[in-house]
Amino acid sequence: MIAENVRQILRELPDGVELVAAAKGRSPREIVEAIEAGVRLVGENYVQEAQAALERVGRRARWHMIGHLQHNKVKGAVEIFDMIETVDSRRLAREIGRRCQALGKTMPVLIEVNSGREPQKTGVPPERVETLAAEIAALEGLELQGLMTMGPRFGDPEAARPFFQETRRLFEGLRAGAPQGVTMRYLSMGMSNTYRVAIEEGANLVRIGTRIFGERPDDPREGR
Ligand SMILES: *Cc1c(COP(=O)(O)O)cnc(C)c1O
Repeated sequence: MIAENVRQILRELPDGVELVAAAKGRSPREIVEAIEAGVRLVGENYVQEAQAALERVGRRARWHMIGHLQHNKVKGAVEIFDMIETVDSRRLAREIGRRCQALGKTMPVLIEVNSGREPQKTGVPPERVETLAAEIAALEGLELQGLMTMGPRFGDPEAARPFFQETRRLFEGLRAGAPQGVTMRYLSMGMSNTYRVAIEEGANLVRIGTRIFGERPDDPREGR
């Protein structure tokens, strides 16, 4: 019951917190059902999958890139997405800026923070966020608007709290001393298992897949 799930989540979210429907592996029909129930933002992990979904679903929603973005996929990504939540290097930021300038647009971006400092995870370690923020602020074609983090996905949601708290501290720090031209507006944290904790810790974008669309058959239960 996708529509019912969406309506329940939307009722539960405090004012000012926006829902991103994490749609990897879902069909355009499922995405449309979520949109018709009130979803405004759709998150995709892969450029090709997003292209296919966008063709069928259209611009009834805004599209967020929430997966790791490869350098050679940036050209396609900047044509599709309304926000890229997963910038984690200066090199990637430069390529996004370059491609956007060629299209005459400015891409809102978030820095993905590897708040757990897990070597196998994407995102920049917390101690490098400030430097990357300054580097992005100096580039044309993209606009830094906040931070995103994953945190642990399974197990006790409380285990994610320290990671969300650390990301929040970084967010507040950047907000206070924001480089010129940067307004830190979005803190994207929390998934199906952890979004309540994330909201308590200041998230205003939550990325929810399973609780909307149900379990994915091929879901790797990492960390179990
Ligand atoms: C899949 C995914 C989510 C949603 O995870 P669920 O546990 O299905 O809610 C959120 N963020 C990212 C980056 C994802 O890849």
